[in-house]
Amino acid sequence: MHRGPSRSAERARSGSAERARSESAERAGRAAETRWTRHAAIGLAGALARHAAIGLAGALARYAAIGLAGALIAAGAAAIGLAGVAAAEEPPWTWDRAKLRSTVEAVRAGRDLLPASWPGGAKVAVTISFDVDTEPLWMSSMGLTSPSVLSRGEYGARRGMPRVLALLDELDIPASFFVPAATFQLHPELATELKKRPQHEVAFHSYVHENPLTLTRAQEREVYERALGVFDELFGKRPVGFRSAVWDLSDATIDLVREFGFLYDSSMMADDHPYELRVAGEDTGLLELPVEWILDDFPYFGFLFNTPMAGLRPAHDVLPIWKGEFDVAYEEGGLYVLVMHPQVIGKRHRMTMLRELLEYIRSKPGVWIATHEAVARHILDAAGDPTP
Ligand SMILES: [Zn+2]
Repeated sequence: MHRGPSRSAERARSGSAERARSESAERAGRAAETRWTRHAAIGLAGALARHAAIGLAGALARYAAIGLAGALIAAGAAAIGLAGVAAAEEPPWTWDRAKLRSTVEAVRAGRDLLPASWPGGAKVAVTISFDVDTEPLWMSSMGLTSPSVLSRGEYGARRGMPRVLALLDELDIPASFFVPAATFQLHPELATELKKRPQHEVAFHSYVHENPLTLTRAQEREVYERALGVFDELFGKRPVGFRSAVWDLSDATIDLVREFGFLYDSSMMADDHPYELRVAGEDTGLLELPVEWILDDFPYFGFLFNTPMAGLRPAHDVLPIWKGEFDVAYEEGGLYVLVMHPQVIGKRHRMTMLRELLEYIRSKPGVWIATHEAVARHILDAAGDPTP
């Protein structure tokens, strides 16, 4: 008589099959994590980020439980600026010196434009900026349009901005607000509130937080024109400050920034000092007020599933970093550019930390707190006209 496998043998086999499956899933998870870490570490989120850029994040997210984590990893890469330019056909270790040079010279730092002095003999210039991304961050950069995700952006307009504006009113501090034009279309009350406070600057931050690396030159020009049209309509004037939505530039971005007559860019990270941008080895006359993730709230507090970002840490963990950056800028006579997002910093206890930071900065003698525009005009005056 045929004797099938005993129950215990079957259990043992099915148990070991299950273990094997779970080990293999674990291995896949570890491999994915390692791949992600490597990509993040060397700044080449490459394939992941390109997929996010072309909207795969959105498609994956529709696969809910399974797809969401992956989508958010990819979207996170784009959001935190790892989108990068498409990976080269040949790996960089095969490039000759000319190729290495032309790659880094696409957009690079030129002349150091730190002025010899700040107005009124101030020791340091401090600029506080808020990127008012609201829902466009999620719908465009992340490719996610479900109600709960979008409500995170809505928080920035509904609760974050009122808190931010009230604190700035109370401390009498001017700031620069970089606003995607679609944010104003979704929340026109923000334009009304900003118009009541002419001490603040309203600056350019894309139409719907689109990633310029995903656009053709013609599309990028068209979308910027559309965004500038919203400023014409609401403010009767165009912004002078430009900040790319994902802190990255296409081959066309700087040409367009010059064509549209912006006074400065604030998206690059080559220095702590302000500098002149060079494109393809040529001076552009365009001033860069550099940003850096160390002085941005998103990497510290911007919670995304399954990314290296810590997300929900105590706000006071960050205070010594932001104070420390200020202290050295003060000693060096430099420029301090702090970037925040009302949907991130606008949370209750984070605003307590921001108040403490701003009160600390204000307590030092000789601190010039001004908009990016005022600082840019001072730097350009001090430099003479850097236009070649
Ligand atoms: Zn943004």
